[in-house]
Amino acid sequence: MANQADQQAPSPNPNDTHRERLYRTRAVVLSRRDQGDADRILTVFTPELGKRELIAKGARKTTSHKAGHLEPFTHTALLVAQARTWDIITEAVTVESFRHLRSELETIAGAGYLCELIASFTEADDDSRPLWDLLLFGLRTLDEFSASGAPVDLRLLLRWFDLRLLSVTGFQPQFFACLGCEDDLQPTVNYMSLSEGGVFCPRCATRRNDVESLELDVLKVLRHLQRSPWADVAGLSIRPHIHQQVESILYRYLLHLLEHHLKSTDFLRKLRTLVV
Ligand SMILES: [Zn+2]
Repeated sequence: MANQADQQAPSPNPNDTHRERLYRTRAVVLSRRDQGDADRILTVFTPELGKRELIAKGARKTTSHKAGHLEPFTHTALLVAQARTWDIITEAVTVESFRHLRSELETIAGAGYLCELIASFTEADDDSRPLWDLLLFGLRTLDEFSASGAPVDLRLLLRWFDLRLLSVTGFQPQFFACLGCEDDLQPTVNYMSLSEGGVFCPRCATRRNDVESLELDVLKVLRHLQRSPWADVAGLSIRPHIHQQVESILYRYLLHLLEHHLKSTDFLRKLRTLVV
């Protein structure tokens, strides 16, 4: 397949007659895999073209000039040649390397989580600008975490990111009004339905078998994360058992969406291992 792509590919020289088949885009490298002896297939996320798979020819050769600009999580400026199988990266220049976040395993794992989540919730040619902005914000914040050396609640950022992503992609769970009677939820124990994507009041919940009780403090945190900018959330101190429940609900809600509404594979498997 790769050879076929070679034959169909326009020359990477922008001055030749194929220049109309070249395009420029910004991209964040979400993941990559080896192809053949020397090439890499990159899954990238772009502001205008959504998620794309591109080939970086020769990227695994030690002499490759492009390779250093195509590391995972890198924000890079690409010149790409259209081709039949995978479009071909002909130029790559780093815009932001996020080098601080690469210095700690915890922030590397966090960046990996953001990228996998974006990859799972997007398709090629999605209208991707809000998600692009969200991804860059997440990576920059992780990078600042590492650079500052201050103790920060990384899990809090990831949960905030979960809820932002759900809002942007149209899967925002309803945490304010009962999904049954539409009354405002009262400050008491209410009931979460993962399959319905929201909360039922105690009265409506008695008629359902797909709900679980939701502590008031957990609901408060979910609401705050959902409606607040990161700056208003960053300083929160959340008790561990509340954090655990917020995380559990969001992981299981993401899992439900991925199983029923989206076609993700790798991330789905990983999420299953995280869900308690
Ligand atoms: Zn109700």
